[in-house]
Amino acid sequence: PVDRSPDVQEARLKLPVLAEEQGIMEAVRENPCVVICGETGSGKTTQVPQFLYEAGYASGSGIIGITEPRRVAAVSMSHRVAKEMNLPKQVVSYQIRYEGNVTSDTKIKFMTDGVLLKEIQKDFLLQRYSVIIIDEAHERSVYTDILIGLLSRIVPLRNKKGKPMKLIIMSATLRVEDFTDNQKLFRTPPPVIRVDARQFPVTIHFNKRTPLEDYTGETFQKTCKIHRMLPPGGGILVFLTGQAEVHGVCRRLRKAFPFRRGNAAPGEDEETDTSEAMRKFKKAKQKKIVSLPRIDLDNYSALPVDEGDEDRDAGIGDEEDGGSDLDLGDDPADTEEKADPSIPLYVLPLYSLLAPEQQAKVFRPPPPGTRLCVVATNVAETSLTIPGIKYVVDCGRVKKRFYDRVTGVSSFKVTWTSQASANQRAGRAGRTEPGHCYRLYSSAVFGDFAQFSEAEITRRPVEDLVLQMKDLNIEKVVNFPFPTSPSAEALVAAEELLISLGALSAPPRTGSVKEMQRARLSCPVTPLGRAMASFPVAPRYAKMLALGKQQDCLPYVIAMVAAMTVREIFEDLDRPACSEEQSSKLAQRRARVTQMRRLWAGQGASLLLGDLMVMLGAVGACEFAGCTPKFCEQNGLRYKAMVEIRKLRGQLTNAVNAVCPEVGAFVDPKMAPPTEHQVVCLQQIVLAGLGDHLARRVQAEDMLDPKWRNGYKTPLMDDPVFIHPQSALFKALPEFVIYQEIMETSKMYMRGVSAVEAE
Ligand code: ADP
Ligand code: MG
Repeated sequence: PVDRSPDVQEARLKLPVLAEEQGIMEAVRENPCVVICGETGSGKTTQVPQFLYEAGYASGSGIIGITEPRRVAAVSMSHRVAKEMNLPKQVVSYQIRYEGNVTSDTKIKFMTDGVLLKEIQKDFLLQRYSVIIIDEAHERSVYTDILIGLLSRIVPLRNKKGKPMKLIIMSATLRVEDFTDNQKLFRTPPPVIRVDARQFPVTIHFNKRTPLEDYTGETFQKTCKIHRMLPPGGGILVFLTGQAEVHGVCRRLRKAFPFRRGNAAPGEDEETDTSEAMRKFKKAKQKKIVSLPRIDLDNYSALPVDEGDEDRDAGIGDEEDGGSDLDLGDDPADTEEKADPSIPLYVLPLYSLLAPEQQAKVFRPPPPGTRLCVVATNVAETSLTIPGIKYVVDCGRVKKRFYDRVTGVSSFKVTWTSQASANQRAGRAGRTEPGHCYRLYSSAVFGDFAQFSEAEITRRPVEDLVLQMKDLNIEKVVNFPFPTSPSAEALVAAEELLISLGALSAPPRTGSVKEMQRARLSCPVTPLGRAMASFPVAPRYAKMLALGKQQDCLPYVIAMVAAMTVREIFEDLDRPACSEEQSSKLAQRRARVTQMRRLWAGQGASLLLGDLMVMLGAVGACEFAGCTPKFCEQNGLRYKAMVEIRKLRGQLTNAVNAVCPEVGAFVDPKMAPPTEHQVVCLQQIVLAGLGDHLARRVQAEDMLDPKWRNGYKTPLMDDPVFIHPQSALFKALPEFVIYQEIMETSKMYMRGVSAVEAE
């Protein structure tokens, strides 16, 4: 029996999902797999695990597992459910890539989808669980899709073994045909239970015209208008595309409708973030924690996180935080509002990378006499429900990472969202009373939106997934029951890359063309491939780790790979300044950072490693200084990124030791720079992983065309690519370089560039 407090009990009774408890539990009892659809906020995530718990699904040896695509959700939902059930965190726990509070007493475990995938690698039958809930399946994150495919096979196997397991797929939209009408996935279609959300009507207001340029300015204006003209009471939720936009609009709104309450006033978030970090750091220092955190081997994400995103184990979450070049920020030309303190607005930002304490603020009622205004990215669309929202302002856009399969060029682009997604956003306004949604685009433009957003798996490279599947002995990845399959070309490209890295064994070159083609799609994994699959980074980087033993290079390779796989280790100091004073401060910092980067780039042979040496130097120096917020701030490093690198170094070290214990790798906080000999060795190791990312400086005759000035030619592209002005090799312009990736911003820029000596 669960002992809930009266308030909790009362709040629960209002949730639509509670009315369906009996139907849901009956369906679960009678079917191996059940799909539950219900509007965001109807209580799926917080209540369904409780139903299962109360029905005894965690009273035997098995526990209840719930996967979330976002780390934020895994952590906050586990806290919420523990609180509702009045159970300690050792019982209702969470596990995300780097941390968790799971114990042997855990009965309900929230985790990111990547964590569960890693567990499947260790125990294919997932015998610890009596039921798995796949939450937010509508998001169609890559890992969620793969988990559903795997579980469609695991559930019948468990039944056959007489240790049955249940699968519950939960979605916020009604579009579940990819799961239910997919014979390859479930031969008998699983029953779908629809939870009728008591949704209040939301009036949609379309703009007459659609701002194509300054939609953040328009968003700001519209929010001001709502706040000024519409009756007080009823919060405003604003949807923008990325962190920088969110901060820009927050700043302007706070200026327009100032609200002050002692020192608890919501000031600049960057400052609160840093002081929070400072406080934690001071506390840590008092406790004399100097050594690196011990990292549990069980504690990492299943799949490579090659994009270095910070919120998710992979995928969608990183999109809103990348590609700062595309952030329009605030446009100073815009007419600023006159500050009006008589109607204070309580403005809160909300995005994935925001510190959890800051995020939690949106769940609390705003200070008396103020109106709540949450300026958010897509996280507020379905993962989190903010209470008391009556008005939604929807910019109609979303930031996505695009990847060109042919050229390998990545870019972040702000594009129109889908109709389904816009309707989800509008729905946020009608949770507690009738609401209004202001769309900053015309109904004609809305009519042109795609109906649904496409599954992530169809728009990213899949070599990491293919390697993981091969490691699970799924040889014919083409036959895998994907809810939506990646394209055949993407699968072929992945197998080819893996063959070239030595992770798969190449098929024999005999037989008919057709036979050879077929063989190419079912290459078995090699022992090297298995070792690589055990490292929580993309195959290219896993290969570097596998080679790292030589010449005592391992600690350097680990540090370098950690730095290369965490996004944006340097702070963006080129951002526009808000004031003159700030601008001179920024200039000072830029000068110092430039100097430090030059120092980290080293001399002599080290220079060859270019940006990778700078990263290695930065990681070494930062760790030497104790990885403090102050050091990061002074040297233009992103504190959060450096903390993540530190954790990843620990993890990678453990992972390498698990594969070859004889190397006895450890993290040395006082790592000396590599010797010249080691630099040469490191260069070869990098080349082994990124060998096909080679670019050559254009020859003199091409220089006739000014667009080729200082350009590099890659095998796959007709247009030139460039070394970024901030790269360590910007001036050196070596003849051959290798790069981590090409990112299209204002130009096609190579990132993570190092030089190759031509023999
Ligand atoms: P769903 O998964 O169907 O979107 P949830 O179970 O997440 O719904 O949410 C149900 C209700 O619980 C919502 O009304 C939400 O406001 C509330 N809720 C969820 N998390 C918290 C929290 N941390 N604090 C307060 N209320 C919360
Ligand atoms: Mg939910």
